Amino acid sequence: MTLEKPSSTEEEYFARMEAEKKKKSADAKRAQMSQTERERLKKEHWMRCPKCGLELQSIDYRGVTIDKCFHCGGIYLDDGELEKLAGQKSRLLQNIAELFKG
Ligand SMILES: [Zn+2]
Repeated sequence: MTLEKPSSTEEEYFARMEAEKKKKSADAKRAQMSQTERERLKKEHWMRCPKCGLELQSIDYRGVTIDKCFHCGGIYLDDGELEKLAGQKSRLLQNIAELFKG
């Protein structure tokens, strides 16, 4: 058996399948939680880094508010902001944004 590197089309297909599966799982988990629990989690984690838990800082760039963790270096973008930053020029960023549509 020969292992060949998957084409970018195959990689995109499998990444999209994985994203759809994880979205369904997240939707199901959210549906099981109470509104009170979701509000408690939002209040507890608002503007906290999802990786290290320390505070995020906001930087405005090209009409988008980028949330940056200066402790671990992570960057967080709200829904739709990746597409806005990518514009029409970056095919790579547009492809990444399209993985999570739907
Ligand atoms: Zn962090």
